[in-house]
Amino acid sequence: MTGKKAAKGAADTTRCECGKPAIIFRAYEGRALCKAHFTGSVEKKVLATIKKHRLIARGDRIAVGLSGGKDSSLVLWLLKKLQPRLGLKLHAILIDEGISGYRNVSIEYARRFCERLEVPLNIVSFKEKVGKTLDEVMASNPDKDIRACTYCGVWRRDLLNKAAREIGADKIAIGHNLDDEAQSIMANWMHGDVLRAARIGAKAAIVDDDTLVPRIKPLREIPEKEVALYALLNRLDADFHSDCPYAPTSLRWEIREMINELEAKHPGTKYNIVRTFDKVQPAIKTSLKEIAGEAAAQRIGRCGRCGEATSQAMCKACELREIVKVSTPPPP
Ligand code: SF4
Repeated sequence: MTGKKAAKGAADTTRCECGKPAIIFRAYEGRALCKAHFTGSVEKKVLATIKKHRLIARGDRIAVGLSGGKDSSLVLWLLKKLQPRLGLKLHAILIDEGISGYRNVSIEYARRFCERLEVPLNIVSFKEKVGKTLDEVMASNPDKDIRACTYCGVWRRDLLNKAAREIGADKIAIGHNLDDEAQSIMANWMHGDVLRAARIGAKAAIVDDDTLVPRIKPLREIPEKEVALYALLNRLDADFHSDCPYAPTSLRWEIREMINELEAKHPGTKYNIVRTFDKVQPAIKTSLKEIAGEAAAQRIGRCGRCGEATSQAMCKACELREIVKVSTPPPP
């Protein structure tokens, strides 16, 4: 039903089909839902995403990239619910970028939540692993064209992968929701980054390489507002109030505003962006292979500095380290 236009005629926005008062009206489905049906529907969609894309196998060891925010907390919550059925081994990994007034707050939520769910939590900091906090990097950023989110995204991905590898994780589960996915697709179109576009998906295995732990996105079909509502209704220990101070400086922020405006005027826009992309993505992959050859499309080597997987002579994490003059970690 998702992505369809609201049914013609007067949809009852106040009552669920079961007769109970609605807590949400999904304009993109033309359907109002009570608390129980909403909660059940979110869980069903997540399970459908996991099954459809074969995100999880029985007995998997899964590292959840936890931030203390609502999205990753919901991933951990839902995987914890699935744990007995699938025999999962769960860990949480939190990357502390060193953003004052933001990450120091959400870390406390993450600690509390992991204690409550009895999931081990590893905290890895930029200060310890990169040599500087993100705040310190931005205070003296030598290249003003490089935004905070670029440093943050590249180093966070790198550290999360290393931490997941160290605990022997089969997958890294991240909190990307429908809004995030729609934004990533639009950002790649705007950057003209076809290679990166080819890698978007519920299972974002960048390339087949033993050192890269595949990333899975169980919330890919859940709109951000519904993640927040589910997390509130189910009293998840998540930071609902703090926003990253660097977020408004990113292109993604502008794209987010644009897509939200379109969604308000044309319900179902976010689903349509993601689903249309999913339909054309196989053609993008095929055409890349034809243009560059399979080997070139998948080419992977080792960074000359740190030894991590990369398609360049130096990985992006080391390139950024060099710009801000911090030392390279020893090879794995
Ligand atoms: Fe990092 Fe940018 Fe996200 Fe802030 S908004 S946590 S700087 S990626």
